[in-house]
Amino acid sequence: MTRDDCLTMDAADPLAFARARFALPEGVIYLDGNSLGPPPVAAAPAMAASIAEEWGGGLIRSWNDAGWYDLPVTLGAAVAPLVGAATDEVIVCDSVSVNIFKLAAAALALRPERRAMVVEAGDFPTDGYVLEGLAALAGAEVRRVARDGLTAALRDDVAVLVATHVHFATGAIHDMAGLSAAAHAAGALTLWDLSHSAGALAVDLNGAAADFAVGCGYKYLNGGPGAPAFAFAARRHWPGLANPLSGWFGHAAPFAFEGGYRPADGVRRLLAGTPPILALKALAAGVATFAGVDMARAEAKSRALGDLFLALVAERCPTFAPVCPATGRGAQVSIAHPDGYAIMQALISRGVIGDFRPPDMLRFGFPSLYVRYVDVWDAVDGLSVVMSADEWREARFATRAAVT
Ligand SMILES: *Cc1c(COP(=O)(O)O)cnc(C)c1O
Repeated sequence: MTRDDCLTMDAADPLAFARARFALPEGVIYLDGNSLGPPPVAAAPAMAASIAEEWGGGLIRSWNDAGWYDLPVTLGAAVAPLVGAATDEVIVCDSVSVNIFKLAAAALALRPERRAMVVEAGDFPTDGYVLEGLAALAGAEVRRVARDGLTAALRDDVAVLVATHVHFATGAIHDMAGLSAAAHAAGALTLWDLSHSAGALAVDLNGAAADFAVGCGYKYLNGGPGAPAFAFAARRHWPGLANPLSGWFGHAAPFAFEGGYRPADGVRRLLAGTPPILALKALAAGVATFAGVDMARAEAKSRALGDLFLALVAERCPTFAPVCPATGRGAQVSIAHPDGYAIMQALISRGVIGDFRPPDMLRFGFPSLYVRYVDVWDAVDGLSVVMSADEWREARFATRAAVT
């Protein structure tokens, strides 16, 4: 494999058209779209227009005239096909953390005789943290269970299994259909965290009989820093769906100002307060970057980019140990090195941006809409220089920042 081979692969890439949809800085190879997607070209004009025309011109009228009131629902409908949901089963709102709280509480309410919530030990921590807070309020219990023990942990007191479809650190993928079937056989519900799946893989929530799901707006969906998240509730659960954050935007008639709470139909009841319209506009531009993109093709390209990266690292930087599984991996790869933090900082200073996850992982994401094969080549080339020239030993790369 040569750099020219990579250029040839890029020239033949059926997804190459999508890169022009992003405003990527010159001289940077961006392999961290799994933490923060880059801005869509359309995001800034869309937000500017919304500020000038809708907010500025329409003022309060824009809640009706510019579709603001329905935006969490209409944007949810745009996200739905990316995750294998029906268009009315997804709503965009709040953060992943808050949506985990709401939907895990909804699951507990649907299984009142069961009080345990199972979550994978070593998963992205916010899910477990939020469940702890919910457990304290709901008189429930959190069980952190090793990955290979999840099925065995589905005992008859388990209300819900909360699982991240693609592991944030290793990229390992759960068999969503298999685990959902095991949970259902045990009488439990499933709540899937799609933070590293939505916009990265061809996700099929309904094909896998998932009950509930949440996902992130600012990673692969390119919605901007702190973008709203999304929530999915399978239609069969709508009748008994209870949102513990029963705010006025989830009310059946918010502007009737009734004395008591009466939930809206369907997933709209998952709303709590007033939606952040400007943030939703940016996320809409992010979701629109997937127009005409076949997710099976996107998934296959990310896997090919990751395979190429691992093969080049094995060839040129053999001191790194791959952490991710060889198959069944999401759109990111992780490699380990005891000096991983400093090495990543040195690499970033060369314009190759990935990130670091403790204790020793360098993590690289390969979103297929804008990462090219030649980027993979150049990234590993940069890494090999950082290593062979010992650049990472410079003192300035050792100091840890707040966000790694
Ligand atoms: C990024 C991520 C989150 C983020 O949660 P927020 O509340 O939106 O900040 C949650 N879960 C997983 C698995 C993630 O990767």
